[in-house]
Amino acid sequence: MISLFLSFILKKITLNLSYWEIQSWLSNIDYTIVGSGIVGLNCALQLRYRYPKAKILILEKGMLPQGASTKNAGFACFGSLSEIIDDLKTHSQEEVFQLVKKRIDGLQLLRETCGDRAIDYQEFGGYELFSDRELLEHCEAQKESINTLLRPLFKADVFRFKTNVFEFDNCKSQLGFNQFEGQIDTGKMMEALLHKVYQNDIKILNNCVLESFSEGVQSVTLQTQQFECSTSKLLIATNGFSSHLDIPEVKPARAQVLITKPIEDLHIKGTFHLDQGYYYFRNIDNRILFGGGRNLDFKGEETTALHQTELIQNKLEDLLESTILPNTPFEIEHRWSGIMGVGQQKKPIVKQLSNNVYCGVRLGGMGVAIGSLTGKELADLL
Ligand SMILES: Cc1cc2nc3c(=O)[nH]c(=O)nc-3n(C[C@H](O)[C@H](O)[C@H](O)COP(=O)(O)OP(=O)(O)OC[C@H]3O[C@@H](n4cnc5c(N)ncnc54)[C@H](O)[C@@H]3O)c2cc1C
Repeated sequence: MISLFLSFILKKITLNLSYWEIQSWLSNIDYTIVGSGIVGLNCALQLRYRYPKAKILILEKGMLPQGASTKNAGFACFGSLSEIIDDLKTHSQEEVFQLVKKRIDGLQLLRETCGDRAIDYQEFGGYELFSDRELLEHCEAQKESINTLLRPLFKADVFRFKTNVFEFDNCKSQLGFNQFEGQIDTGKMMEALLHKVYQNDIKILNNCVLESFSEGVQSVTLQTQQFECSTSKLLIATNGFSSHLDIPEVKPARAQVLITKPIEDLHIKGTFHLDQGYYYFRNIDNRILFGGGRNLDFKGEETTALHQTELIQNKLEDLLESTILPNTPFEIEHRWSGIMGVGQQKKPIVKQLSNNVYCGVRLGGMGVAIGSLTGKELADLL
């Protein structure tokens, strides 16, 4: 009786779709990917390369991708010196080494997939500002051993110190420097990936939330607000939203950002980390993009709501004025936030969840670097 009632409701939901729509978009689907962020798009592309004839569908809840991939700061980075030293407190040397390797391999794959011009890849180097003398001294003391750990990957010393030529205030005169760090144009990267996905005959349904799914023997039934359909395999790439689909190891972590209006003769060029990576800024189009401050309210920022808060936005403005642009007038043009997926361990979860369901989630603040590789690893589970 209950199942009869349910099938009546479901039929009602799909009633508004035409025969053609059901046939062309929602029937005989081989692979359904949930989430059109970096991971979902790369996973779809990898599946296409392996299965040229397969029917591949991506479901995306936003009008645009609506998590982190179109919201981020575009750092093509491997971790600042203090971040790596901090990681070694909770991860083994081998784990830290493998994570940096993943970031290098992931960036390489992103650059090969899209091309440097398409994503506007630029290698101006990455810097770290120190407001705390003790932290600076600790980093200076550890620099050699971290360089030794990472030398097999870079074939050179990664970290050194440079004098503060950018006129930053309220920080020490020495800046950490990593010549290998780069930056991309995040919007262009996502445009390039989406373009490739469409070119490869992969369909995307936007404004379409996967609400739940249930597994049969040979397939998975998907329930969205607008329709029900079935797919041979389901691949979940929902990162910070994964707990909604019963993947409890990932928690949402909101990250807030602002951008200035264009600044004449802007002398700052590169990617910059401050306060052990809790704050980050870069140049883009003669502006400063500045984000971070989640550490001011970890609990409050454990949310999927795409809002900004006064507490964090005010702190960003304060730091901009006192530390980053102390002698330069600026105006804020725009503010936004995005949602990351974090957890106990600083590495993604890429695994099979059941017979026909797989996930690639928990990218933390590293998805520009590792997202392409995580998408590939997700596809490779099949
Ligand atoms: C402000 C900010 C700055 C960052 N800066 C950097 C940086 O400089 N460098 C770096 O390497 N990383 C950075 N990151 C992290 C990086 O952006 C992410 O790790 C990466 O984008 C994650 O990609 P993803 O595909 O896993 O997730 P997402 O891009 O979040 O994609 C998941 C998608 O799933 C969709 N979705 C979720 N649930 C459902 C559902 N039920 N049905 C349908 N669709 C659903 C969402 O709308 C979303 O589009 C930053 C993140 C933020 C927020």
